[in-house]
Formats: sequence, C-alpha cells, structure tokens
Amino acid sequence: MERRDFFKVMGVSLATVASNALPQSFLDGAHASSINAITSLPKSDTARFAWTVDDGCSHDAVENYINFVADNDLRLTFFVYAGMSPWQTNQKILKPMVQSGQIQLANHTMRHPFLTKLTTKQVQKELMDCHNFMERNYGIDARPYFRPPYGDINAAVINAAADIGYTRPMLWSGTLADSGKVGSAKFMNLAHLAMRDRGIVLGHANNMVASNHFDQLLEIVNSRGLSTVTLTDAFGV
Ligand SMILES: [Zn+2]
Repeated sequence: MERRDFFKVMGVSLATVASNALPQSFLDGAHASSINAITSLPKSDTARFAWTVDDGCSHDAVENYINFVADNDLRLTFFVYAGMSPWQTNQKILKPMVQSGQIQLANHTMRHPFLTKLTTKQVQKELMDCHNFMERNYGIDARPYFRPPYGDINAAVINAAADIGYTRPMLWSGTLADSGKVGSAKFMNLAHLAMRDRGIVLGHANNMVASNHFDQLLEIVNSRGLSTVTLTDAFGV
C-alpha cells in the first residue's frame, strides 16, 4: 500500500503497471488498474491525520467547520458534493482559506451517484462537473484527489477517473458515521477510534452532530499530540 501511496502517474499508461496488490474483485470486468484506493497517510516524523469532511448538505454545518478550522489553526479537506448549495453560499468565507491552503477542496462528484453503476463517460462527467464548479467558484484545480460517494469503487471507476487526472482515489481509515443523524455516544466513540496517527478521518457536513462536539473532538486531537494535515500536506501533490 505504501508504495502505491507514493505512486505518481508520469504520463504512462496505468494498465502497464503490475496490479498484484489489488484484490481480485477490483480486477473483475475491467482492465487491471495500478492504483489502489488510499486509506492511510504516509509515514512521517510527526503524529498527524487528515481530517476529511464530505458532502456539505447543510449551510450551517459547512460554515461551522470553516470557523472551527480558522479559530483553532487546524487544516482540513472538504470532499465537495458540488450539487449542494452550501458550496456557493459559503464561498465568500471559504475561498480565502482554500487559496491559503489551510482548507483543501477535493472532488466528491456533482450529483453523488454510485459510480460503479455508471459508464466510463458518466463517471468522468460526474467528476468533471464537480471539477469545473470548483475551478469556476474557487479558482483551483482539485486534481488528483477524489472520493467515490458511499465508498463505491472498482477498477473501472479508478481507471475512468485516472484518465482525466483524478489519480488518487481516497477512502478512509475511520469514520464518524455522521452522514445522517448519529447518537452522541456512538459519534464520540468512533472519533476516539478514528483520530490516530496516519489516519484519514471521514466526517460529514450534513447536520449539526460534529459542530455540537467540536470541543470534545479538539480535546482528542490535542491530548494525543496530533496535528491535522490536508491531503496535499500529507502526499506532497
Ligand atoms: Zn458523500
């Protein structure tokens, strides 16, 4: 896995590289991909994790995350579901933080479909519609990071994305399970499990659950001596 974390596509065909690290289910029905979905950060000298927040269905949840990051000198990556209006309604406060690199925007598609059910062209359109939205509204090129909605991914999706420059399919090492409502005890229990060195933590900006626990989440980060990094911080691209 680590070797592939660092793998860079240098204009060579992905299918020409060995794919022996992929489970067979990834290979069925598609040409062999050389890229694995990524579920942890590379090793480093400091204890750190990537705090990643998906969707953005709630204006207030997105706004609260932005203020939380700003107020506490954190670094965070949003996986933008571009069809949701909070990415427009929060643009004014978010854009400066994206431009400074404190918050990174990555691709979570335009309409949040199950990508494995789509054709290659449809997968690419989902990613490019989101890509173009971020370029228009935030002036950034979000490649190479994308996260498939529901974690729904296979070799065909990986290859379709890689062909348009989305060469880093990002999954996660621990989830806060807050895409919908989740109880406080379960949420905090999952946070204790997820927030670890080299972790990729999956949260959502769809409701107020995380906002209501920001102080407790920060306490975990600080008590464990963890720092937060964006994907570009961690992977250097
Ligand atoms: Zn999602």
